[in-house]
Amino acid sequence: MKLVSATEMKFRCPTCRKAVERTSDYFPFCSDRCKTTDLGRWAAGEYSIPGENAYIPDDSEGHF
Ligand SMILES: [Zn+2]
Repeated sequence: MKLVSATEMKFRCPTCRKAVERTSDYFPFCSDRCKTTDLGRWAAGEYSIPGENAYIPDDSEGHF
């Protein structure tokens, strides 16, 4: 079993999963392109928030 020190551990680009150096100008992304792509995904709503809209109050009923 080979132990890997923290300094040898690689972060991975959230967009393309490529190993990225911590010293990268675009960290945690591997490139400006991936950084822009990720931001675009957020803007497009690709990442939804679990639980959101799970309960929508309905005022059309429930008047006791
Ligand atoms: Zn990337």
